[in-house]
Amino acid sequence: SRKWSRALSIVKEFEEKCGTPIGKLRQLGDAMDVEMHAGLASEGGSKLSMLISYVDNLPTGDEEGLFYALDLGGTNFRVLRVHLGGKEKGVIGQEFDEVSIPPHLMTGSSEGLFDFIAAALAKFVESEPEVFHPPSGKLRELGFTFSFPVKQTSISSGTLIKWTKGFSIEDTVGEDVVGELTKSLEKIGLNMRVAALVNDTIGTLAGGRFYDQDVIAAVILGTGTNAAYVERAHAIPKWKGLIPKSGDMVINMEWGNFRSSHLPLTGYDQDLDAESLNPGEQIFEKLLSGMYLGEIVRRVLLKMAEEAEFFGDTVPPKLKIPFILRTPDMSSIHHDTSPDLKVVGNKLRDILEISNTSLKTRKIVVELCDIVATRGARLAAAGILGILKKIGRDTVKAGEKQKSVIALDGGLFEHYTKFRVCLEETLKELLGDEAADTVVVKHANDGSGIGAALLAASHSQYL
Ligand code: ADP
Ligand code: MG
Repeated sequence: SRKWSRALSIVKEFEEKCGTPIGKLRQLGDAMDVEMHAGLASEGGSKLSMLISYVDNLPTGDEEGLFYALDLGGTNFRVLRVHLGGKEKGVIGQEFDEVSIPPHLMTGSSEGLFDFIAAALAKFVESEPEVFHPPSGKLRELGFTFSFPVKQTSISSGTLIKWTKGFSIEDTVGEDVVGELTKSLEKIGLNMRVAALVNDTIGTLAGGRFYDQDVIAAVILGTGTNAAYVERAHAIPKWKGLIPKSGDMVINMEWGNFRSSHLPLTGYDQDLDAESLNPGEQIFEKLLSGMYLGEIVRRVLLKMAEEAEFFGDTVPPKLKIPFILRTPDMSSIHHDTSPDLKVVGNKLRDILEISNTSLKTRKIVVELCDIVATRGARLAAAGILGILKKIGRDTVKAGEKQKSVIALDGGLFEHYTKFRVCLEETLKELLGDEAADTVVVKHANDGSGIGAALLAASHSQYL
């Protein structure tokens, strides 16, 4: 029918605009490399802030003692306790607790959020075995993974530049987040010192390095997306401090804010951005991270419902609700292998209250998920290519046998199999066989928590 072909043409047009041919991905890798240089050259020199982390030494494996970590960066936060046993014993034990953040605290007051976190941490500390209680006068030490853009002022302090990923609390912006947390800890009398402030990419890099000395970069694909890597300190013109003994400095790229004319942006992406909490910002993140993938699919489906009666002669009301289609549900739809696409049918019914969908309708829905996930995964691969280019590891030099391991983490990478496989295949394709043999993408399962605890250990005031 005419309506059906109209629906198909909306999908086709969307697919064309989402196209990521290998040549375009190479241009994006080059653009990422160029922006990395610019961001390292001067403050504000690029959309990539290329933040200096003050981490100039990554874990060696010798770290010892009991350390805490706190991971705030999305809809949940985690508290961890890690018992490190040094070279021989490694991680002896670890326990964690996960708490979801009530949505009203994500847009309320700074005090409200940090009081809530401090209270959860205090409750977790209560379960500490007595043998580990610190002697009087000694403070417990904590690595604080705070995954929002921070202008670091030392290893253990930094001011919030802006919120992302659905957080929006005006009075925290410009404040030292360690100061905010410390105030709340003191208020409830919890004796703990923040020894290291990092974000999840730095934590993942540190955790990855603890287990594998070839780890040179970390990428997070979760609610948001970001990357960190090890740079040579003398290649950072904006760094005015001393060159560290290691010669290295870890850089938090804040790559979610990457932007380039080569990015395949569609009208749907432009509308999503315009209606977001942070219009004009985090454009790369809005194309590929877990917070947004399902929402992009919803927007295309809504257009098809409105302009081509894709779900019948009325537009399903639920389809008009922003963010109602979450990326984990999109992933279930995309991975449905049943002959009648039963999972797709159930998801459409349960989430969008659209019942009795035909098989051919379901197939189109799956195809849309594929278009959106494929674009995102391929863009992520192009970003990784950019990092490898920047540090000269995208090609194999004659006689050299260096290995480059990239630690990947985040719920999207971990659970969205088709996304992960597409990312890995695209990276191989971009590198070519020879260089691809030297680059390994490794899932660092919750490396960020352990990484923060490790950095707290290596920056302990009792060393
Ligand atoms: P955060 O990024 O908030 O720190 P995670 O790394 O755990 O937390 O990532 C959570 C995100 O991962 C969710 O917001 C969601 O977008 C994505 N995600 C979780 N489970 C799945 C899944 N099964 N399929 C696809 N994406 C998922
Ligand atoms: Mg996280």
